[in-house]
Amino acid sequence: MSSIFTADLKGIVVPCPACGQKNRLPYERLAASGTCGKCEASLPLVNAPVEIPSTAVFNAVIAASPLPVLVDFWAEWCGPCKMLAPQLERVAMQEAGLSLIVKVNTEALPGLSAQYNIQGIPALLLFRNGKLVAEQAGAQPASAIRDFIYR
Ligand SMILES: [Zn+2]
Repeated sequence: MSSIFTADLKGIVVPCPACGQKNRLPYERLAASGTCGKCEASLPLVNAPVEIPSTAVFNAVIAASPLPVLVDFWAEWCGPCKMLAPQLERVAMQEAGLSLIVKVNTEALPGLSAQYNIQGIPALLLFRNGKLVAEQAGAQPASAIRDFIYR
């Protein structure tokens, strides 16, 4: 699973489609699309799942995102996770600027699985305003994932 977007402590790193320059879209401004700092082309909204590189970045995203954050806990060996991945990509496309879809690799970040008591994967957790509001396990189609976000 690869995403064109990565995250750091301050925001989502968005590559410019025109010149390739990496721009940081601060979490506070996730609902808007920015312009490239180098060539001034408009940047895309975050329209794909974002891989979380560390617990610190996870906490930063959850604390600062003005958008609902849907977290997918997954692992490379997990078959249902692989079925869920393209559905999440579809939702991320539909929800660009409305919801943020992030992915937590449970083998890379086992501390987060323990913290949120993840018993089986894939597991979807929904955060609003920094708080965990809903949780759902198992692979599901994009339409069900969107229903889960807007439940
Ligand atoms: Zn550019």
